[in-house]
Amino acid sequence: MRFKTHLKIHLPRLAHNVEKLKAWAPRNEILFMIKADAYGHGMVPVVRFCAGELGLTEFGCASIGEALKLRLELAQNEFEIYVFSDLELDLPQCREAYGNKRILPVISCLEDLRLFFSDPMFASVPLCLKLNSGMNRLGFAENEIPELLSEMKRAGRRSIYHLMTHLASSSRAMKAADQNHQQAKKFEEMKGHFVAAGISIERTSMSNSGGILQNFGMEYSHIRPGLMLYGPSSLDPQDRGLSSWSGKTISDLDSYLIAAYPVAAGALIGYGGVAAPTAGVLAIIPMGYGDGLSTHYKNLQLTMGKYQGRSCGRINMDMTAFLFPAEAKDKIKVGDPCRLWGENPSEILQLADNNHTIPYEIFCQVSSRIPRLYSLN
Ligand SMILES: *Cc1c(COP(=O)(O)O)cnc(C)c1O
Repeated sequence: MRFKTHLKIHLPRLAHNVEKLKAWAPRNEILFMIKADAYGHGMVPVVRFCAGELGLTEFGCASIGEALKLRLELAQNEFEIYVFSDLELDLPQCREAYGNKRILPVISCLEDLRLFFSDPMFASVPLCLKLNSGMNRLGFAENEIPELLSEMKRAGRRSIYHLMTHLASSSRAMKAADQNHQQAKKFEEMKGHFVAAGISIERTSMSNSGGILQNFGMEYSHIRPGLMLYGPSSLDPQDRGLSSWSGKTISDLDSYLIAAYPVAAGALIGYGGVAAPTAGVLAIIPMGYGDGLSTHYKNLQLTMGKYQGRSCGRINMDMTAFLFPAEAKDKIKVGDPCRLWGENPSEILQLADNNHTIPYEIFCQVSSRIPRLYSLN
């Protein structure tokens, strides 16, 4: 049990972000990416709310395990689940799960395509394909399309349910002829091969948050947002100003002080005796790398009312020290609440920028030791 240290997920902020996105992209269907436990926010409650209250009907996982968990825990809700990367189609028990639980594997290679066509379990499962348009991660290469088409023909499949590709550089400012535009062009070319072969394509998608934020790839039926619906922009720091989108960070990471006392400049703080750069008030919070604050973070900010503290010394497993300015003396004390990030996305983005990381990773690292609380306020 733990109460005062928690990640509080404000579901109305998620509703706000989804409504905003619907207005931003009125002609696109939303396939919401909820892999990695909804970017650390708790996949089941997030999907329950989005499917039950916000009318979202399509969700994207990374693994069959994530998809199966959703189906088992939210059996009463009607929605589609895609699995994007860790398919495990070679395992009979997984093939059965796809077939019986209406889970859509996104097929990216010929080996999986052959497994898909050879098992009667998949006879009525719609075909979803990922193309490698230049990211060089997952997806069919252009020179594999003839083989892919002949496999489809042999299996008697004349349609693709969802044809997609993924952008490698959507977090950067879009410029003519850049990697994003090259990928878009390649995707169109590859799509053309299916059309020329008389294959019908029901749905298409390309853009993740970075594309959507820059109105790129909006001609396709679907968009696949992840990060932006959790609040922060996915654009690189220098390009963030390019998009007028602003979401609300759906979570607050809150804790409280378990110690607070004045220290002199040069006082040795914690493991390894790191000298305090200035005099001030040292404040200890009961969170450390065991909770997901990486030892690589050198510049965490802690907010307490109008005072801002900076992390000082090494991050420990269970605790982190922050140095507040001397004028915070008598103003911050043991038991007082503090916050690492809240609703304004600039807070988690600042944390990411200051520590050479990305908001995706910070969210995903919040460990299971931090309780997730869900609020309807
Ligand atoms: C994770 C993922 C997304 C969402 O990316 P964001 O940058 O979080 O918007 C979209 N598509 C695929 C295939 C993904 O793996």
